[in-house]
Amino acid sequence: MFDYVVVGAGLSGVVMAERIASQLKKRVLIIERREHVGGNTYDYYNEDGILVSRYGPHVFHTKLKEIWGYLSQFTEWHHYQHKVLGHVDGNLVPIPFNLNSIKILFPKPVAEKLSSKLINFFGYGNKVHVLELKETKDEDLKFLADYVYDKVFLNFTHKQWGLRPEELDVSITGRVPIYISYDDRYFKDEFQGVPKFGYARMIKNMLNHNNIKLMLNTDYREVLTVNHLTKQIKLFGQPFEGKLIYTGKIDELFDFCFGELPYRGLELKFETVNREFYQEAGTIHFSNEYEFTRVSEMKRITGQKSNVTTIIREFPKDCNRNDIPYYPIPQQENIEKFNQYKEKAKDYPNIILTGRLADYKYYDMHASILMALDKFKKGL
Ligand code: FAD
Ligand code: UDP
Repeated sequence: MFDYVVVGAGLSGVVMAERIASQLKKRVLIIERREHVGGNTYDYYNEDGILVSRYGPHVFHTKLKEIWGYLSQFTEWHHYQHKVLGHVDGNLVPIPFNLNSIKILFPKPVAEKLSSKLINFFGYGNKVHVLELKETKDEDLKFLADYVYDKVFLNFTHKQWGLRPEELDVSITGRVPIYISYDDRYFKDEFQGVPKFGYARMIKNMLNHNNIKLMLNTDYREVLTVNHLTKQIKLFGQPFEGKLIYTGKIDELFDFCFGELPYRGLELKFETVNREFYQEAGTIHFSNEYEFTRVSEMKRITGQKSNVTTIIREFPKDCNRNDIPYYPIPQQENIEKFNQYKEKAKDYPNIILTGRLADYKYYDMHASILMALDKFKKGL
């Protein structure tokens, strides 16, 4: 009955299913373990009528018009540029740390000296990784680097990952570099926003096609098996000759034969407050205070109007096999383990892997979509 089976109704699986159904005109079955579509982007209206993200707030951003245009077929946008403030020495300063943060934190002559040195060394409009700045020979910039490292990165990263910044792949902390500019936006991409009526609505629109059949509340292993000797796939007990597009955890697909790939987890605590707004920005970071890392206010992000407001506090935690996998942990040992799985996957011509869990990569939404579209274009 089906030409393709997609495991996982997160963004990656949904993009694949949508393309197969609308462009190839083939029949697709999507199998999803959770009771809803959208994976970690899933949102809903809570009992106070506020649109909230179950797995943490998601702001869409991309430099690519193609990706923005693709999603715009399925949603209108609330045009929103994400702003984040961080608590540093009793002040609220822009994060990523930038020339405005320096202006707020240091006396005027010190701020001017630090800013002009940054501009001279790196050029206005550029960025520098905090670990790179720590290597500088200039005494003033070294002071600044140590200050930002201690006040912005060290404790936040320890809470988030249980690790020091230098123990993680530099790409993680490099997501939030020091910017030599006065641009306070968290992301610098041209296209930014959130779907006007939420991600879940957008994703339902993407799946609204006669060629797509969705099974919720179903672990794929209940209905589909992969024989690792013959590489044969069975769906509902019958041989399946089509292609399997797999967006779940790669180690699970291969029965954890090379060991488990670890993830970092999150516990999100929601609170509705009986006033119009709670805080000054969409998200506030608490690097050095509290057990949680950040507080986000949904209405600041979605633009929704209401007399009450819902906030989300993020408490990082370890992640067990059956917990929701939030963040892959890109450390050398894990990358090597992932590469063993990736190598093994090459022996399975009928299985296509894509997405954050199958690629064990820290993809943002635009990257997940780009990967899926690229794989689709290369031919399934
Ligand atoms: P997922 O969303 O994880 O979807 C995978 C799906 O597969 C899930 O629904 C899962 O239930 C299903 N599945 C897994 N195993 C099985 C199985 N055995 N059987 C059946 N189904 C299965 N990106 C941004 O661009 N901006 C942001 O602001 C942003 N914020 C984020 C905040 C947090 C807390 C997190 C964790 C991520 C954030 N992201 C953000 C990244 C974004 O969530 C991902 O890029 C995107 O969700 C990846 O989609 P995916 O389909 O690859 O993975
Ligand atoms: N980070 C930090 N302090 C901050 C912001 C970020 O130490 O104020 C580090 C931290 O290690 C974090 C990483 O940079 O995990 C990436 O931050 P980002 O906001 O991109 O994380 P995400 O939104 O993906 O959770």
